[in-house]
Amino acid sequence: MKKLILTFDDGPDNRYTGELLDLLKQEQIRAAFFVVANNALQCPELIKRMKEEGHTVGLHSLEHRHAYLCGYHYMKRDFLESMRILERFGGRILYYRPPWGVRNLFTGKFLRQYQLKMVLWDVMAEDWKGSSTPVMIADKIEKRVFDGAVICLHDAGEKSGGAKGAPRNTIEGLRLVIPKLRKEGYEFVTLEELT
Ligand SMILES: [Zn+2]
Repeated sequence: MKKLILTFDDGPDNRYTGELLDLLKQEQIRAAFFVVANNALQCPELIKRMKEEGHTVGLHSLEHRHAYLCGYHYMKRDFLESMRILERFGGRILYYRPPWGVRNLFTGKFLRQYQLKMVLWDVMAEDWKGSSTPVMIADKIEKRVFDGAVICLHDAGEKSGGAKGAPRNTIEGLRLVIPKLRKEGYEFVTLEELT
């Protein structure tokens, strides 16, 4: 079997994340959610549900600032507060994905300090754009995927550069592409299984 993993950034968002979790449950897929800690604080029940349903919860910063705009003191607070928020839900946080994949001089120090493993991505589908339809998102994923690929999608994002309503297209795109990927021999694995 070929393997792939679905990862979702920028959430959770009460408008979309629950529906996405319903779809993943129905399809029996465990995914990874790189959450913005301040968003997690707004919808704790969604974080609890992710954990209960076997998904991996990783950190995607406190409030999604671009690393080039952040100095040492901000970065220190970013990791400290984020880890405090996420560890309240129980279990260790093992994975980190920086906003836009961008690191600065201090990122490495804090990853070591909190023993976080950085996870970037192999495949994106421009699902944050208002002009991306479900069919376009599904086609891009299908064309770009390969064995072992980490796919990066978004279950939120208005506060971090995404178009309003875009996650709805992401969810509909997944409904289209999941059966196709299964037919092509792909198995959906967790981050722990792949890394
Ligand atoms: Zn992001």
